[in-house]
Amino acid sequence: MHSGEPRKQHLSTRCVHAGEELDEQGAMHAPLYNHSTFGFTSTEALLDVADGRTTGNLYTRYGLNPTIRAVERKLADLEGGELAYAFSSGIAAVAATFLAYCKSGDHIIIAGDVYGGTHELLSENLAGLGIETSFLLGSELGELEQTLTEKTRIVFFETPTNPKMDVVDIRSITRTARAGGALAVIDNTFASPVNQNPLALGADLVIHSTTKYLGGHSDLTGGVVIGSGPMLEPISVWRKNLGQMMAPEVAFLLARSVRTLVVRIRAQNATAQAVAEFLQGQPRILEVNYPGLPDFPGHEIARTQMNGFGGMVSFVYDGGADETAALIDRLRLFTIAPSLGGVESLVTQPITTTHYGMDPEERRRRGIVDGMVRLSCGLEDAEDLIDDLRLALDGSPAWRAE
Ligand code: PLP
Repeated sequence: MHSGEPRKQHLSTRCVHAGEELDEQGAMHAPLYNHSTFGFTSTEALLDVADGRTTGNLYTRYGLNPTIRAVERKLADLEGGELAYAFSSGIAAVAATFLAYCKSGDHIIIAGDVYGGTHELLSENLAGLGIETSFLLGSELGELEQTLTEKTRIVFFETPTNPKMDVVDIRSITRTARAGGALAVIDNTFASPVNQNPLALGADLVIHSTTKYLGGHSDLTGGVVIGSGPMLEPISVWRKNLGQMMAPEVAFLLARSVRTLVVRIRAQNATAQAVAEFLQGQPRILEVNYPGLPDFPGHEIARTQMNGFGGMVSFVYDGGADETAALIDRLRLFTIAPSLGGVESLVTQPITTTHYGMDPEERRRRGIVDGMVRLSCGLEDAEDLIDDLRLALDGSPAWRAE
């Protein structure tokens, strides 16, 4: 039973303990070192750290800060990566990854729907630097191989996607990207490391907006890139020189949140499943998108690559833009807000939030219709959330208007 290597600890244990050690005062978790710089007793000692001969603390913008390093160790462990680099936001992590691997004349492929900010970064900012992007719809992923060129550096994708919850086959996209000489980079924000570990399925790099599930309380903004040391090295140079470092206070708060990640995510998975099943039976709901529904098109692939189906659900209401806005205005437990992953349930109408800036024709092409509603299920009791949805669907007057 106890022969050989010790068994790898389970995820809940790693959420609590990974990256942590008792400090000299006996503190159980990495303390908050809010300092911008760290002192040395000799020039030689400073140069040992600056030149990488010893690991130590030096300057927070470089990431050489114990609070930041502690949360990076924890996040790397949860995704099964060698290293993690923390960022000031999710989009900072995405941008640094593109900039580290692409220069003018290079090509990126976006496989399926992605976060609107990522779309804008590529089509507005990186296009201006001469980096070209091909955006494949979810229905066009079979064309990935033909879209790869010798200039393609990155195939980037999300799964489940925002807002239709499309499930993208991680193994298949990764294999095709690699065969074409490109890196497979995945934004794993929607799933969280509890529900999905893309590095184990072949991805080269995993990105999270830690603003969402990892932070989990809608009170911090951050991002992370996870992978092997050599793959992260060029990304860390961009992080340093663009000044995209996560603040130590944020790293401290994030580490505290991650200790409860597994219990939060499992509860949110169960609530989202119950909410999706309730919505499926409602007369004015035309479509429910949730990977945990057995008849959802991506369900079978989700079963092979996810450990849980997540806390995000979207549905299409049988009404136009205004009627759908009125529906979400009637909800009282779901707060109208353009984010996700926190302990409080949130609701958005993508055409007024996440996809507000997208050309209406492009939205239609992507199936993001006026009646679409996206829910982020929090930690309230599932029955209360379902009651809230039931009352809003029945047309009960809004509590806000009372
Ligand atoms: N990736 C996904 C899937 C997101 O939903 C978001 C934000 O909504 C981001 C990245 C960007 O994260 P941040 O707002 O932390 O920059």
